[in-house]
Amino acid sequence: MAEDKQRIVTIDGPSGGGKSTVSRVLAAKLHFTYLDTGAMYRAVAFQCREKGIDPADSQGLEALLAAIRIELLPPAEGEDDVRVLVDGREVGSQLRTPEMGMLASKVSALPQVRQTLTRLQQQIGAGGRIVAEGRDTGTVVFPRAAWKFFLDASPEVRARRRAAQLRSKGEEVDEAHLLAQIVKRDRDDRERSLAPLTAAPDALIIDSTGLLVEEVVRRMYEKILTTPCCGKK
Ligand code: C5P
Repeated sequence: MAEDKQRIVTIDGPSGGGKSTVSRVLAAKLHFTYLDTGAMYRAVAFQCREKGIDPADSQGLEALLAAIRIELLPPAEGEDDVRVLVDGREVGSQLRTPEMGMLASKVSALPQVRQTLTRLQQQIGAGGRIVAEGRDTGTVVFPRAAWKFFLDASPEVRARRRAAQLRSKGEEVDEAHLLAQIVKRDRDDRERSLAPLTAAPDALIIDSTGLLVEEVVRRMYEKILTTPCCGKK
């Protein structure tokens, strides 16, 4: 029932599907807060590496999760990515590498990690007015979200977009290697037993291959305006 819904937009999908840009633009248009859940998995992966903790060491991981402080702040002036603070230290740019994406995918399959981050995300979203982006935001984190989307695109297009993104930050990119990484990460994310990457049954699936960001945002915005959400949250 519409009364049970939370005033939340979820945008899930594989990497490079355009989720981040679309989520940011849509959140600004709606005056909602943008919640980048992938950044949180990357933050845990980063901290494992920093502290030399093997994610397979469940006691070490437990202690890390109990102590870690993750803060997400709006992007700096002229920047696109949210600012990420781990234990008060800004680590954003170190999180956005393909290698950290692979490590994030590895730690994200672990039950302790998912439990901790899902709880944190639900706390952040408790008041509603959130655009949450990730892999399981519509299925597991916010199943009562009023508006759910699943953003897909062909692997080649996704690899090309990621390559352009990295190049714009001055990084050298081997596009074939990047494509192989994307295909592996998506397969792992789809096939894991906990909160696998999949579209919620009530999500609108949008294939962004060949679509501009503006067009994707327009479709989502129209859907939001025409789908009532009666709850106060
Ligand atoms: O979205 P991003 O590429 O930053 O996510 C990094 C990794 O974190 C993903 O490949 C996925 O394994 C994991 N993730 C997840 N659930 C989310 C968001 C991200 O498992 N809601």
